[in-house]
Amino acid sequence: PDADAPDAGKGQRVMIIGGDGYCGWATALHLSKRGYAVSIVDNLCRRTMDDQLGFNSLSPIKGIHERVRRWKEVTGLDIDLFVGDVCDYEFLGAAFKKFNPTSCVHFGEQRSAPYSMMDRSRAVFTQTNNVMGTINVLYAIKEFAPDCHMVKLGTMGEYGTPNIDIEEGYITITHNGRTDTLPYPKQGGSFYHLSKCHDSANMLFCTKAWQLSCTDLNQGVVYGLSTDECDMHPDLVNRYDYDAVFGTALNRFVIQASVGHPMTVYGKGGQTRGFLNIKDTVRCIQIACDNPAPKGDMKIYNQFTEQFSVNELAAMITEAGQKVGLNPEVITVPNPRTELEEHYYNAKNSKLQDLGLDPILMRGEFLETLLKQIMEYKDRVDQRLILPGVNWKESSSIATTMSK
Ligand code: NAD
Repeated sequence: PDADAPDAGKGQRVMIIGGDGYCGWATALHLSKRGYAVSIVDNLCRRTMDDQLGFNSLSPIKGIHERVRRWKEVTGLDIDLFVGDVCDYEFLGAAFKKFNPTSCVHFGEQRSAPYSMMDRSRAVFTQTNNVMGTINVLYAIKEFAPDCHMVKLGTMGEYGTPNIDIEEGYITITHNGRTDTLPYPKQGGSFYHLSKCHDSANMLFCTKAWQLSCTDLNQGVVYGLSTDECDMHPDLVNRYDYDAVFGTALNRFVIQASVGHPMTVYGKGGQTRGFLNIKDTVRCIQIACDNPAPKGDMKIYNQFTEQFSVNELAAMITEAGQKVGLNPEVITVPNPRTELEEHYYNAKNSKLQDLGLDPILMRGEFLETLLKQIMEYKDRVDQRLILPGVNWKESSSIATTMSK
């Protein structure tokens, strides 16, 4: 079957929680275009955080109502919108009853590690929002849509950086002569990452206790701006974060290189992580929706396509930047995080490819195209947002504002 056919998702009803965010918006449009009935659930708290901290998406994003209206105008396709908080169970239950999803893709969490390390209240918010929201989704499925497949976004950061290969979710261990297949050990490196570890444990428990169908996707760092659908109209443009709190490694480096700011490598730069293009994120979610997990047996996939160290990223951007007339520089700044800066890293990622993912690689012209695209928004860059702002060791018990 052709995954890009206009009726590829016929019969599927996908609720996208966090559908106003970076991954969620691109996914909502990708699935809508392919014949899935799509609804977006979002409380827009990500936009509020930007307002509170004085940040902004590099790309000029429209409000969610305007986005959805524009999508209808451009494609004739409807996306149902439910604006509310998944931590509010009455709201979530009403959305479930009204939309009756066959899959529920849960992106709707506070997803920044630095944000979770700013101060006590944000650490508590991150874990309350994320863990409570996920428990509510699990209950809503149990109560209102027991056949609905839950697809939950976790992170590769749940595994930390162990000195052995990282398996996809489970590891078979022989100990004192006995063998078992167990959840792979988790060691989150921030209150955010730990919220995902707690989510995974809660999901695994509910999958077994209530015979739910759940897939946990340990996603790597997502990069890029374009997807076919977000490119269809300027009002459909995705968000692109570059500040020190919500911006992720590659996306931030690309902006720094574009505006002539040295790329800020934290510490030794040997930190190695899994990465994937946003165009692959949306395809991975489609694959997950099309392959529901059997009830009672939680599937776990590592959702990334390539692994790079921070130094490798900086070198690749330097090379690509020179080709488009820039002169990128690299500086080392003290690492604000508590993490290993040189370590073994070898994570498995074959399961999504076995199900049909044909990865887009970072090499070649991709970085040059991204740099050119980002340079068009150069005038919107606020250089004050570029430097690292949150130190793990200095996380305060008193609420902080970022305005200095
Ligand atoms: P994002 O912040 O852009 O989007 C998350 C969306 O969820 C926002 O629109 C926000 O308003 C919404 N939300 C948060 N809490 C909510 C709540 N209680 N009720 C309703 N809506 C709520 O984040 P993103 O980059 O799109 O990430 C999406 C998911 O993927 C997150 O769970 C994140 O942890 C995971 N992930 C992202 C990356 C990445 O590189 N961006 C990497 C690994 C995993």
